[in-house]
Amino acid sequence: MKKCLSFLICAAIFLQSVPVSANSAVIRSGNPDSMKIALTFDDGPHPYKTNVILDLLEQYGIRATFFVVGENVSYYPEPLKRAVALGHEIGNHTYHHTPLSSSCEKTVAEEIEKTEEIIFQTTGYRTTLFRPPEGSYNQCALNVAQSKNYRVILWTVDTRDWENPVADTIVSNVTANVKGGSILLFHDYMSKKSHAIDALRILIPNLLAKGYEFVTVSELLA
Ligand code: ZN
Repeated sequence: MKKCLSFLICAAIFLQSVPVSANSAVIRSGNPDSMKIALTFDDGPHPYKTNVILDLLEQYGIRATFFVVGENVSYYPEPLKRAVALGHEIGNHTYHHTPLSSSCEKTVAEEIEKTEEIIFQTTGYRTTLFRPPEGSYNQCALNVAQSKNYRVILWTVDTRDWENPVADTIVSNVTANVKGGSILLFHDYMSKKSHAIDALRILIPNLLAKGYEFVTVSELLA
């Protein structure tokens, strides 16, 4: 039995024990009784890595959801256009990748609106999915996003690809934690070398063989 060694640890244990459904404002997973799972990629588009991921997804005939940073869309519009043309889902991940835990209305609204606009100008696509950078937000940020009719999407499994582990570590992490309804967090834009793509080359066929079906986040939540 876990012992509460300090207030912080007690609080963490309590928060972990709160059912996801208790906080319907933020979505972390889909139906656990289905075999559907959603790959999500944050921080792109990236001029090279996004395209490699799109090639890989196309090879397996599966679709994913890309939470894009508006500023990166302004630099690299082509991978985003390609993602939309291939039927992938796009989500809003702010314009400057600004953590929203200490931001309120004006900043949050500008970050969301500017990104919404550049996605639309680039692709003609309107998204209703929002993911706060680093999963960091406060109630005010949630209120602003929801007032704009966004669903706030976090994740079930953080692959921790941002820590630059070897591919086998990412594979083990996902394999140990994935379940029906999971939303898997990957990144298609990282300044340092990432082994996420190598991990995906192993994971996608493995998860398909186990009976999982890859869908977009909206399909997962439908
Ligand atoms: Zn991010």
